[in-house]
Amino acid sequence: KAKSEGRGTYRFFEARLGMQVRDRRMLEHDLRHAVARGEMQLVYQPQTDVQSGAVLGFEVLLRWHHSDRGAVPPSLFIPIAEESGAILQIGEWVLREACREAATWTNPLSVAVNVSAVQVHASHFVQLVHEVLFQTGLKPERLEIEITETALIRDPGRAQSTLRQLKALGLRIAMDDFGTGYSSLSNLRTYPFDKIKIDGSFVRSVDENEQTKAIVRSVLGLGRGLGLPVLAEGVETEAELAFLMSESCQSAQGYLMGKPAPIDQFSAHTTGVNAAMQTRQVA
Ligand code: C2E
Ligand code: MG
Ligand code: MG
Ligand code: MG
Repeated sequence: KAKSEGRGTYRFFEARLGMQVRDRRMLEHDLRHAVARGEMQLVYQPQTDVQSGAVLGFEVLLRWHHSDRGAVPPSLFIPIAEESGAILQIGEWVLREACREAATWTNPLSVAVNVSAVQVHASHFVQLVHEVLFQTGLKPERLEIEITETALIRDPGRAQSTLRQLKALGLRIAMDDFGTGYSSLSNLRTYPFDKIKIDGSFVRSVDENEQTKAIVRSVLGLGRGLGLPVLAEGVETEAELAFLMSESCQSAQGYLMGKPAPIDQFSAHTTGVNAAMQTRQVA
């Protein structure tokens, strides 16, 4: 009896594994057509000045509304898009849409676009960014590109040269998710970053945990020493924001100041009607 049960269990896992592989292949296939089918959408999350609360710009985040599955999270589909190469086409669409959108704002806020390792290492990436800026008319200084450290390790020499060429176009480069991944401090020296984004996992509960406090403080000190502004991601509570304020963190982003949403929800900021308006009241 135990034997047959064992086999049943094995079959169950085998079936599940088969499902996963099939599932992944289907997602991979669907991803290639998602842009053309109009299933991709951009949402925007405000990045604010910690001291004044003023909106400085927006990070662009991709959303996939699958026709059968509904919302598929980026944590699931971005890695598949990277491995299959579909990220090149999807990433180009994101960049173009984001720049086209930001160019319509009468208030010249910045727009931050996430870029994958696969894109950074692709040939013609610099040319693509140049072309998109030219075609949309967006001023390069309003564009920020967010890159994680892991994007750089595949071919450091090539990555360095690409980042320098991007900077030469006049845009800014932020190191995303700082503190996770490799966090080799020399990366901050080797690559021409303009900003450090501390990962949300450190910012969360920073008000309660002494170790977390020490880590955030040291990243802020590092930023000061290197002359790089620091943005804290994932700010959810007033207490977290108060800590960042007391430690002179420059900018912040998180559900407390605003969840990612379609850009029309932020039109007061993008049109500058309420340029002085703050997303939250400073106590
Ligand atoms: P990321 O670039 O580090 O983006 C921040 C993530 O944290 C976003 O998740 C955002 O929705 C979430 N977030 C923002 N504020 C808070 C908060 O207060 N609390 C919590 N718990 N979460 C918060 P999302 O949108 O699911 O994106 C996940 C990741 O997927 C991004 O991390 C980025 O690495 C990647 N991604 C998203 N859009 C794109 C894209 O257009 N291109 C590429 N290459 N990657 C993208
Ligand atoms: Mg990001
Ligand atoms: Mg991040
Ligand atoms: Mg991330």
